[in-house]
Amino acid sequence: MRLRINQISIKLDYEKPDALATIARLLNCREDELDRLVFLRRSIDARGKDVQPRFVLSAEVDYLGEADPPFAPGRVNLAVEPESMPVIPHVAPRKHRPIVVGAGPAGLMAALTLAEAGWKPLLIERGADVQIRSHQVETFWQEGVLNLESNVLFGEGGAGLFSDGKLTARSKNRGAIRHFFQILIDCGASSDILIDAEPHLGSDVLSRIIPTLRNRIQELGGEVRFGTRLDGLHIEGGALRGVTVSGEEIATDTCFLATGHSARDVYTMLAESGVPLAAKPFAVGVRAEMPQSRLNIAQYGSWATHPRLRSAGFRLTRKPGQTTRGCYSFCNCPGGLVMACASSDGLLTTNGMSYSSRAKPFGNAAILVPVGPDDYPIGGGDAALAGVGLQRTMERAAFLAGGGDYGLPAQPLIDFLEGRESAGIPEARSCTRAVPANVASLLPDEVARTLRSTLPKMLRELNGIRNRDVLLYGVETRSSSPVRIPRDPETGQSTGVSGLYPMGEGSGYTGGIVSSALDGMASARRALQSVT
Ligand SMILES: Cc1cc2nc3c(=O)[nH]c(=O)nc-3n(C[C@H](O)[C@H](O)[C@H](O)COP(=O)(O)OP(=O)(O)OC[C@H]3O[C@@H](n4cnc5c(N)ncnc54)[C@H](O)[C@@H]3O)c2cc1C
Repeated sequence: MRLRINQISIKLDYEKPDALATIARLLNCREDELDRLVFLRRSIDARGKDVQPRFVLSAEVDYLGEADPPFAPGRVNLAVEPESMPVIPHVAPRKHRPIVVGAGPAGLMAALTLAEAGWKPLLIERGADVQIRSHQVETFWQEGVLNLESNVLFGEGGAGLFSDGKLTARSKNRGAIRHFFQILIDCGASSDILIDAEPHLGSDVLSRIIPTLRNRIQELGGEVRFGTRLDGLHIEGGALRGVTVSGEEIATDTCFLATGHSARDVYTMLAESGVPLAAKPFAVGVRAEMPQSRLNIAQYGSWATHPRLRSAGFRLTRKPGQTTRGCYSFCNCPGGLVMACASSDGLLTTNGMSYSSRAKPFGNAAILVPVGPDDYPIGGGDAALAGVGLQRTMERAAFLAGGGDYGLPAQPLIDFLEGRESAGIPEARSCTRAVPANVASLLPDEVARTLRSTLPKMLRELNGIRNRDVLLYGVETRSSSPVRIPRDPETGQSTGVSGLYPMGEGSGYTGGIVSSALDGMASARRALQSVT
């Protein structure tokens, strides 16, 4: 009998035999009556103030004993097969190859899904491959030299290549998530991502996985072209007939648009081509950096340096008050780095990343406040792109405040709260190319006001982080898309152009690596199913 056992609380330095012994105790059986122990889930319980944190496991085990084991509903159950994704039958190649635009998580997973089904896609990416791109990005961070086509936001791996590589997702589609994680594992990720409650890869691991994923697409008959940009769509009678890529006309009736939300030129091109677009709420703010050792002590107490405990993360949320907006932390990078991001001349934004070890001395997170039409004028231009206007204004101000060479503007929280110019910023920080600035002045007034009033209260929840520990960097503008490309809920195609599949973060329907990857798979499957 195969059983699933939940809520197995176990010491930090457990080994497999300890888990087996704990399960035998729970089931009131002998250890030799248990076989094939497989861990399914692992989280940390660090709630007890004065007790050592513990792991909480879920596991599956074969029970070989004669007597019925105790069934405590929810805690001990018969094991069920994990959800899986239906296999897609092989589909005959089409007259015209499908084009996938963008080699971020959505585009890569769409191209892989199409290639697996025999559709031999052409995947185009404006930026360079991981290896070349990594050098370009290093030059940007060290010297402030920006490559407009290949940078922190553009290039193989997409916006999340230089990221924390968090693999958290809100999707309930466990089968699809498992499928995606298994592909990552096949390409080199640790199988821990299948069991960790908060899985993450880190930028170093992502840089190894992505080229392997690309090779797989090519081995299956897909073609990948770097340094190749989608510049135009050919639409006739509401149907896609072809695309222009870097000066070449390619006939196609199927294009998967996975260009992310930093490709503002794509939104402009879509608007000019008559593809329906809509404005979407989003959020802006700052990135807050604080000592990781303090975060660890706050969460794990005197066990903070235990080798089995990783750098502590956090999530903070505040509901709107009478005079303030809501506010929340986003994209926490424990033991990570704050970095400059840019994909347009003279516009600068910030973000966070980490390596797989998450071992750097600072943790950071975006602190965001929602914005809407009250914060940016609509009218004059295309209303759907008004949010992009606000992003640009803030990013331009950040670029100038940072010295005009892609250094990041930064300000100690205590100066931000008191509304005073900062005389300097601490030497000990993760982003070396940062300069003192009035970060509040880079934000919409309501956002700055909300942060001033709310941030200290939120930080108090971290129980040990003092205002003077925190350095703010400006500005966070690209946490999600300000634009949506409406699509038909059944077919996944643009509501205005058949054959055009907007997907991933740039479509405004997803946010994050996992949801974008899943969306890429789902879009490709919809297209394949439409011809089977
Ligand atoms: C610094 C940073 C850290 C992040 N950290 C995390 C994290 O830890 N966890 C998480 O879940 N999410 C994270 N995110 C968000 C995550 O990266 C995105 O949600 C995800 O990458 C979106 O995937 P996508 O494929 O839809 O688009 P993108 O990843 O943005 O990929 C779009 C691709 O399209 C290409 N492209 C654009 N225009 C064209 C064109 N005209 N022609 C050809 N190619 C084009 C771009 O070069 C790019 O490679 C982070 C983002 C950033 C910027």
